[in-house]
Amino acid sequence: MTVFSRKALSLDKIMIVAFLTVFVSAHAVVALCVQSGFARSTLVAAATESSSTVTVHYIDVGQGDSILIDTPDKDVLIDGGPVDAGPTVLSYLGSRGVTHIDLMIATHVHEDHIGGLVAVLSSVTVFDEVLVNNQTSSSNTYTNFMNLARYHKVTVADRGQTFTLTATANLTVLSPIQPLQFTDPDHANDNSVVVKLQVGSTSFLFTGDAEKQTEQSMLNVGLSLRSNVLKVGHHGSQTSTTQPFLSNVAPSYAIISAGQNNRYGHPDPETIQRLLAQGTTIYGTFQSGTIVASTDGTSIAFQDNPQPIPEFQPATIFSILLTATIIAIVTHGRKYIVQRRQA
Ligand SMILES: [Zn+2]
Repeated sequence: MTVFSRKALSLDKIMIVAFLTVFVSAHAVVALCVQSGFARSTLVAAATESSSTVTVHYIDVGQGDSILIDTPDKDVLIDGGPVDAGPTVLSYLGSRGVTHIDLMIATHVHEDHIGGLVAVLSSVTVFDEVLVNNQTSSSNTYTNFMNLARYHKVTVADRGQTFTLTATANLTVLSPIQPLQFTDPDHANDNSVVVKLQVGSTSFLFTGDAEKQTEQSMLNVGLSLRSNVLKVGHHGSQTSTTQPFLSNVAPSYAIISAGQNNRYGHPDPETIQRLLAQGTTIYGTFQSGTIVASTDGTSIAFQDNPQPIPEFQPATIFSILLTATIIAIVTHGRKYIVQRRQA
């Protein structure tokens, strides 16, 4: 039997030093990652609202979409989530002191987008104009929505329309085109009103539930799709966010509006992978609740430090590094003992 010699003991010391080095390095990596999280919140803190700040609120309405664009001049509400989210949207508008919406956009006829708008249209909130895609539906929700919308100025969305929000912010309609390309009720998603918000040099793309046919239609005519922030189409479904579209938009950030553990399995893992492969930071309302981005026209900051998807877990990285270190030490230790036995 081999007895550990002084040489073996010195190897042990080397292993201990190696372990401590990796241990300290792991701590440094974790500290660095946590620090980067702090850096983001510091950036947010620095981006205090000025008279030119535009904030974009991806309101958590469960399985659905509702987005408030709050500018120093005109405000826009895109969708209102499902019927049962109406009170949530109303209370959110109230908490922001929003009593006047200049433009309401109903992206398409589905309940998870226009349902909550019924309560909002029934409230004391003042609306100037309602933008619709011109597709009708036999659903009660659509009937209720249109019965209230018709008291306001109803505009049919058409590619190329522009709405001026402030001196430096405007909204452009990228889709649909009139007459509608997709008249089949099964393709209601593809008639979604798609708009791009430009604030100075920053940009946000809102796609409703637009799917691959709409994405292709916009690519075919060479629209300027490039945007810093993408509201991912159709709650992150596999049928949206195709690679050619994603490559064209090249977003730094993507927001997925979907309900926790929803029955559709949104978002689809393939969509997540496509976004991650593009180097996009993804946030989800199902994970972070309401997500708020603010821009001064030059840079974009996210409030309250939302968790990127997949959720960053310093403890996981630390555990992997620790396990790898232990395995390396045991393996090398065994090799050394075997070598000594053979010697
Ligand atoms: Zn939807």
